[in-house]
Amino acid sequence: MTVRAGRELLSIPGPTNVPDEVLSAMHRPAVDIYTGSLVEVTMSLLDDLRGLFRTRGRTYIYAANGHGAWEAALTNVLSRGDKILVLESGRFATGWGAMATTLGADVEVLPGSYTHAVRPAEVEARLRIDTGHEIKAVLVVQIDTASGVVNDIAGIGRAIRAAGHPALFMVDAVASLACMPFEMDTWGIDVAVAGSQKGLMTPPGLSFVAASERAVSAHRHANMITPYWDWTFREGEEHYQKYCGTPPEHLLFGLRKAIDMLKAEGLPAVFERHRLLAGATQAAVAEWSKGGTLDFSILDPAERAPSVTTVLWNGETSGQPLKALVDYARDKCGVVLGTGIGALGGRAFRIAHMGHVNAPMVLGALAVVETALSALAVPHGSGGVQAAIAHLARNVKP
Ligand SMILES: *Cc1c(COP(=O)(O)O)cnc(C)c1O
Repeated sequence: MTVRAGRELLSIPGPTNVPDEVLSAMHRPAVDIYTGSLVEVTMSLLDDLRGLFRTRGRTYIYAANGHGAWEAALTNVLSRGDKILVLESGRFATGWGAMATTLGADVEVLPGSYTHAVRPAEVEARLRIDTGHEIKAVLVVQIDTASGVVNDIAGIGRAIRAAGHPALFMVDAVASLACMPFEMDTWGIDVAVAGSQKGLMTPPGLSFVAASERAVSAHRHANMITPYWDWTFREGEEHYQKYCGTPPEHLLFGLRKAIDMLKAEGLPAVFERHRLLAGATQAAVAEWSKGGTLDFSILDPAERAPSVTTVLWNGETSGQPLKALVDYARDKCGVVLGTGIGALGGRAFRIAHMGHVNAPMVLGALAVVETALSALAVPHGSGGVQAAIAHLARNVKP
């Protein structure tokens, strides 16, 4: 027996739910790539991306996923042999760093963990001893979707300046743009990357890079540049050059609608919605964790991300495999949970509250997790959903 008929609820941290309005905006004939509406859409998107990243710098749109934006960011500003510092706080900054190694950079990882955010003081201390300014760039993620951490990007920017270090500051905002504040210029960020399929509520296949003046200067001397990602070619006169070929038209129409929806809601309201739904999720997990089997990956509540919650599974105290929980939620109840990745593979599950989400979706996902915990007799504190409801009732004013 199951109770899963109807629309499946995708609660993984990307791709996220695509609004019907975005799907509808994509349902149209292909259009000319040299004139007309597509050119206007490109120009409006490049401009709105500046607004989302909060920069007066340049923005680029790639027909690629987040990994493409990673490669675009690295190859446009670095040269082979450049030393870069990667700030670990889960899986993604180190993944970006591994890509940089393959491209010929000399990568040093500032060790971190899946339990806490990057410590800005440690960044400052490392940069201070680099008196010869060998380090050319610092790489970090704002939200790491593996650990569920949110890093203090403003604080890390201050640490770089406090050390008086000229390294480029490169930030992955794939799982945080349009989920929480991001202030590229104010925080001193030189290169920022994001993708379409997380907070931006659009199908996977587009990614974005924003570049400061300093990044553009570095680009002029960089020797890692390859043709497809090259900013200079993309600055050319012809519209197709913006995409180094045929534009991903339908994704662009979808993104246009998604950004219009974000603007209609208002970015501060979008951020607040994420914060509230994250708070509800955290309230539920805090109750469940009283049973000893489940726990937060991130120890300090202030460092838990507003777009995804990573829940540790303490195998020693449980007779039930984690896989049974994820399978039950999907196969019996129609909720797809994220599984643990990176160092937490097989040791965690993830509940996304990212992008096009509202109270019934998140409360529904939490209720299904609690149903699965009960059905599988996993030791857990009961009343997680009640705590989530109480959190919303307390914080969402009439
Ligand atoms: C999803 C994600 C990526 C990778 O994006 P893809 O589109 O899967 O290549 C990079 N960084 C973070 C923080 C992510 O969450």
